[in-house]
Amino acid sequence: MWEACHGKTYLGEGTTTRMRMLAERYQLQSTHARYNQYTADPTCPLCLKEPETITHFLMECAVLEQTRRPKVSGILAQLEGRGLKTPTTAHEWCLTILNGGRLLQTTGVQLESRLTKLETACIRFCHTVHIERDTRIDSMLMDKF
Ligand SMILES: [Zn+2]
Repeated sequence: MWEACHGKTYLGEGTTTRMRMLAERYQLQSTHARYNQYTADPTCPLCLKEPETITHFLMECAVLEQTRRPKVSGILAQLEGRGLKTPTTAHEWCLTILNGGRLLQTTGVQLESRLTKLETACIRFCHTVHIERDTRIDSMLMDKF
Protein backbone atom coordinates (compact mmCIF):
# COMPACT_ATOMS: atom_id res chain seq x y z
CA MET A 1 0.00 0.00 0.00
CA TRP A 2 2.67 2.45 1.01
CA GLU A 3 4.67 1.47 -2.02
CA ALA A 4 1.75 2.20 -4.31
CA CYS A 5 1.05 5.60 -2.75
CA HIS A 6 4.67 6.49 -2.71
CA GLY A 7 5.05 5.61 -6.38
CA LYS A 8 2.09 7.76 -7.27
CA THR A 9 3.37 10.79 -5.41
CA TYR A 10 6.75 10.41 -6.98
CA LEU A 11 5.23 10.29 -10.44
CA GLY A 12 2.99 13.24 -9.63
CA GLU A 13 5.94 15.37 -8.64
CA GLY A 14 7.83 14.17 -11.67
CA THR A 15 5.00 15.22 -13.94
CA THR A 16 5.08 18.71 -12.45
CA THR A 17 8.85 18.87 -12.83
CA ARG A 18 8.63 17.91 -16.46
CA MET A 19 5.76 20.30 -17.16
CA ARG A 20 7.90 23.13 -15.81
CA MET A 21 10.73 22.07 -18.09
CA LEU A 22 8.41 21.93 -21.09
CA ALA A 23 6.98 25.34 -20.30
CA GLU A 24 10.49 26.76 -19.88
CA ARG A 25 9.58 27.58 -16.31
CA TYR A 26 12.29 25.38 -14.96
CA GLN A 27 14.91 27.57 -13.32
CA LEU A 28 18.29 26.96 -14.85
CA GLN A 29 21.20 29.37 -14.86
CA SER A 30 20.60 30.20 -18.51
CA THR A 31 16.97 31.12 -17.77
CA HIS A 32 18.03 33.39 -14.93
CA ALA A 33 20.59 35.01 -17.21
CA ARG A 34 17.99 35.70 -19.86
CA TYR A 35 15.99 37.81 -17.41
CA ASN A 36 18.85 39.27 -15.44
CA GLN A 37 21.42 39.86 -18.14
CA TYR A 38 23.80 41.85 -16.00
CA THR A 39 23.70 39.97 -12.76
CA ALA A 40 23.25 36.32 -13.56
CA ASP A 41 25.84 34.05 -15.02
CA PRO A 42 24.36 31.43 -17.38
CA THR A 43 27.18 29.00 -16.64
CA CYS A 44 26.17 25.61 -15.31
CA PRO A 45 26.69 25.69 -11.52
CA LEU A 46 27.62 22.00 -11.50
CA CYS A 47 30.37 21.67 -14.11
CA LEU A 48 31.15 25.38 -14.66
CA LYS A 49 31.91 24.55 -18.28
CA GLU A 50 28.94 25.51 -20.42
CA PRO A 51 25.78 27.58 -20.27
CA GLU A 52 23.18 25.63 -18.36
CA THR A 53 20.51 25.11 -20.99
CA ILE A 54 17.84 22.45 -20.70
CA THR A 55 19.78 20.22 -23.10
CA HIS A 56 22.97 20.69 -21.13
CA PHE A 57 21.24 19.93 -17.86
CA LEU A 58 19.21 16.91 -19.01
CA MET A 59 21.67 15.32 -21.42
CA GLU A 60 25.14 16.80 -21.41
CA CYS A 61 26.38 17.92 -18.01
CA ALA A 62 29.17 15.54 -17.04
CA VAL A 63 28.43 15.95 -13.33
CA LEU A 64 25.01 14.34 -13.80
CA GLU A 65 26.21 11.59 -16.11
CA GLN A 66 26.16 8.80 -13.53
CA THR A 67 22.61 9.63 -12.55
CA ARG A 68 21.53 9.95 -16.13
CA ARG A 69 23.16 6.93 -17.75
CA PRO A 70 21.08 4.03 -16.36
CA LYS A 71 17.86 5.95 -16.98
CA VAL A 72 18.82 6.75 -20.56
CA SER A 73 19.59 3.09 -21.20
CA GLY A 74 16.15 2.18 -19.89
CA ILE A 75 14.43 4.69 -22.16
CA LEU A 76 16.54 3.61 -25.12
CA ALA A 77 15.58 -0.03 -24.53
CA GLN A 78 11.92 0.95 -24.46
CA LEU A 79 12.17 2.97 -27.67
CA GLU A 80 13.95 0.09 -29.41
CA GLY A 81 11.57 -2.49 -27.98
CA ARG A 82 8.70 -0.60 -29.56
CA GLY A 83 10.51 -0.18 -32.85
CA LEU A 84 10.51 3.59 -32.41
CA LYS A 85 13.11 5.88 -33.87
CA THR A 86 15.89 6.60 -31.40
CA PRO A 87 17.35 10.07 -30.89
CA THR A 88 20.85 10.68 -32.20
CA THR A 89 21.86 14.02 -30.68
CA ALA A 90 21.68 15.41 -27.16
CA HIS A 91 19.10 17.92 -28.37
CA GLU A 92 16.90 15.19 -29.88
CA TRP A 93 17.20 13.18 -26.69
CA CYS A 94 16.18 16.17 -24.66
CA LEU A 95 13.09 16.81 -26.79
CA THR A 96 12.16 13.14 -26.87
CA ILE A 97 12.34 12.83 -23.10
CA LEU A 98 10.41 16.03 -22.54
CA ASN A 99 7.73 14.69 -24.85
CA GLY A 100 7.54 11.24 -23.33
CA GLY A 101 9.26 9.54 -26.23
CA ARG A 102 6.82 11.03 -28.66
CA LEU A 103 8.49 13.82 -30.50
CA LEU A 104 10.31 11.92 -33.18
CA GLN A 105 7.41 9.64 -33.92
CA THR A 106 5.23 10.53 -36.84
CA THR A 107 2.29 8.16 -36.43
CA GLY A 108 0.81 9.81 -33.36
CA VAL A 109 -1.95 7.23 -33.02
CA GLN A 110 -2.65 4.94 -30.11
CA LEU A 111 0.31 6.36 -28.34
CA GLU A 112 -1.37 6.80 -25.01
CA SER A 113 -1.77 3.19 -23.98
CA ARG A 114 1.26 1.83 -25.77
CA LEU A 115 3.62 4.43 -24.45
CA THR A 116 2.52 4.68 -20.87
CA LYS A 117 5.59 2.89 -19.59
CA LEU A 118 7.85 4.98 -21.77
CA GLU A 119 6.10 8.15 -20.69
CA THR A 120 6.59 7.12 -17.08
CA ALA A 121 10.27 6.41 -17.67
CA CYS A 122 10.72 9.87 -19.22
CA ILE A 123 8.94 11.58 -16.34
CA ARG A 124 11.07 9.69 -13.83
CA PHE A 125 14.18 10.61 -15.76
CA CYS A 126 13.40 14.34 -15.54
CA HIS A 127 12.60 14.07 -11.87
CA THR A 128 15.68 12.06 -10.95
CA VAL A 129 18.05 14.40 -12.76
CA HIS A 130 16.25 17.36 -11.20
CA ILE A 131 16.63 15.95 -7.67
CA GLU A 132 20.30 15.21 -8.29
CA ARG A 133 20.92 18.77 -9.51
CA ASP A 134 19.09 20.26 -6.52
CA THR A 135 20.92 18.05 -4.06
CA ARG A 136 24.28 18.97 -5.52
CA ILE A 137 23.51 22.68 -5.60
CA ASP A 138 22.26 22.53 -2.01
CA SER A 139 25.42 20.86 -0.80
CA MET A 140 27.53 23.37 -2.73
CA LEU A 141 25.69 26.21 -0.99
CA MET A 142 26.16 24.51 2.36
CA ASP A 143 29.89 24.31 1.74
CA LYS A 144 30.02 28.08 1.30
CA PHE A 145 28.85 28.76 4.82
ZN1 LIG B 1 27.09 21.27 -16.38
